[in-house]
Order: sequence, then C-alpha cells, then structure tokens
Amino acid sequence: MQRRSLATRLFVVCLLIAASGVCRADRVVRVGLWPQQRLPRRVTVTGAMTVESSGRAWTARTLSIIASQGSLTIAGNGKQAMSVQIRPRGPVTLRTQTSPLAVLNCKLRFRPSSAGVQCVADVPLEEYTARVLAREMPLDWPPEALAAQAVVARSTGLASFHRHAADGYDVCSLTHCQLFSAIPVSPVAVAAVRRTTGWALARGARPVRAPFCSTCGGWTADGGAIGMEEWCRAVRDGPAGAAYCRESPHFSWKTVLTRRDVAAVFREASGEFVVLRRDSGGRVTRVGLKGHSQSIDGGEFLMRCGRTFGWARIKSCLLSIKSQRGSWLVSGHGLGHGVGMCQCGARGMAKEGKSWREILKHYYSAAELRRWP
Ligand SMILES: [Zn+2]
Ligand SMILES: [Zn+2]
Repeated sequence: MQRRSLATRLFVVCLLIAASGVCRADRVVRVGLWPQQRLPRRVTVTGAMTVESSGRAWTARTLSIIASQGSLTIAGNGKQAMSVQIRPRGPVTLRTQTSPLAVLNCKLRFRPSSAGVQCVADVPLEEYTARVLAREMPLDWPPEALAAQAVVARSTGLASFHRHAADGYDVCSLTHCQLFSAIPVSPVAVAAVRRTTGWALARGARPVRAPFCSTCGGWTADGGAIGMEEWCRAVRDGPAGAAYCRESPHFSWKTVLTRRDVAAVFREASGEFVVLRRDSGGRVTRVGLKGHSQSIDGGEFLMRCGRTFGWARIKSCLLSIKSQRGSWLVSGHGLGHGVGMCQCGARGMAKEGKSWREILKHYYSAAELRRWP
C-alpha cells in the first residue's frame, strides 16, 4: 500500500516535470547541420543504417541523396521523396562537396529546399553539449574551465529550442547559435560534460542563453549597454592590476589610426576622433568626431573597423584614444564584445584553483545554477 502511494507520488512528480516543458532527461536538440546558404546538392551516407522514406523501410550500407526540383531522389532508386530518415546502427559518415565530413550516430532527417539538401540531426542534449564544447574551447585547457564552458553550452542549448523553427530545426551549427562539432568528440569534452550533467544557468525557472567572449581585457561588458543580454553586468575580471585573463595574447594591444583610417570608419571627412560615452566597466559605447554630428555606438565602431582594417587592429571597445599630430594612438584591452564569461579569464581562474561553479558565479552573478534532470 505504502509502495503504491510512493509510486503514485513519483508519477505525479514526473507529470509535473514533463508539463514544465524544460525538464526532460531525454531532450533532443534538432541541429541543422549545414548553413542554409551553402546546402549541398548531393549527400552520400555510408555505414550500417535503416532507411525510411515514402512509407518504406530498408537496411543499407551506402546511400546517396540528391536534391532535385524541390524534392529528394535516392540514387539508384529513382523515386522522388519529400523526406528521407536514417536510423544508424553505429556511426555513419556523411560526405558532401560543400561541407567537411560528418560522423554521427543519431537519427538523421533529410529534407529538400530550393538550395539543396538539409540534414537535421536529432542529438541528445548531453551529446550536443559535448559537441559544442569541443568547438568553443581548446580541450587542453584546465578541467574547471572546460566544465564552466560545458554549462554555458548546455544553458544556451536549452534556451535555444525552436530558435530556427522556420528552418525546421532548433539550432544551427554556426556561431549564430553555437559552433557544433560533427566529428567524433574527444573523451576530454565528454568528461567535462559528465562532471556537470544537467546543470544550466537560469533566471527564474528558465534556462538562459549565456554569452561569452575570448578575452575581456580586465572588465567584462554591460550587456544592456550594447543591446545584448541585459542581465550580464560589467564585472572587474579579478583583482586590480591582476586580471584573470592577463595571460591572453589579446590582453593588451595598441594601434595607430591615421586621419584617412578614421575618415574611412566614419565615412566622412575626418575631425578630432573622441570617445563620447562609456559603460560602467569603462568600455566605449559611443564614439564620434568633434564638430561633426555623426556618432556611432561601440558595437558599430568595432564592426566597421573589422570590415575596414581586418579584425586584428581594433579588437574590442575597452580602449582609450590619444591624439598625436594628425593621427590617434588607440590602446586597448581584450578581444570581442566582452559580455558574459571571459574564456581566458575562466582559464586563469581555473589555474588559481577556482571551481567551475565559482567561475560561473563570477561572470554570471545575476543567474543561478539549476539542474535540469
Ligand atoms: Zn543559429
Ligand atoms: Zn577577462
């Protein structure tokens, strides 16, 4: 009697968890493997598999799928289909002319589009997390930094379901969502993910997309000031004069902008190049030319400099400008937008003995850690 009532209670708990919609152990992330602009016309899959298409199922060891006139054709079969599904019986290899090799062992769905064939891989959440980690952080970094990045990857994955609903999947495999590795993943990434199984950053009951950058340069950015996650606040990255990311090759940099450079960025005759506004961490949020009405925000300035000079000259908006006879010496710190976790800082904290929880608390103080069973 007592056992049955316990079972009943467990059943009710399971129902409540399922109803919450974000708490399922078997969550699968539908990953669009290839960029919509570069879809292959032909995909060849090799390995033991069961193929399903047009109401039929059969086993195969090699299969070529070709996009033609808005539908798919299986080579050697000749019949047109609107979808082909593959259930691998071990790792299968996908070859195309436009994308690197992919080796996966999960359900794959192929669909036609006007541009070619799209493959949607149904990847279990924890495997997705390991595959993202393998692309987003060097795997020879300290284990606590890898574990922190794993939680960032899982949180962003959980918060990104249906982000690409219009394309027929949840997330893409590019930086727009998170980089995704489609080749077998190193055991190092798998171990970092296992150490943090289920843990994600959340605000209230919801997982959050957790932005991160390569090197903050001593202060992270105020997300709200640059139109990103406004709950990500500017934090000093370690004790004054001893930033956690100080060993990064991008920690400090200098460049000289000539009058011609500045005119190219502002797209008008050059005036005195000045900083107009900074965020609470000192990052430039608006720059302009004295005597000219035009001014641009920090993110736009960074983007224009990158497009004009390449991405190695002005690396971040944590910078100061010094006028020097017809040119400007720009001294800066860090690389990237600076919002959220500083990856090189996470490495520095891990080297100083901090845990992945302490690293996440430092960079995401306005979020809490929750476990998604
Ligand atoms: Zn995306
Ligand atoms: Zn940093």
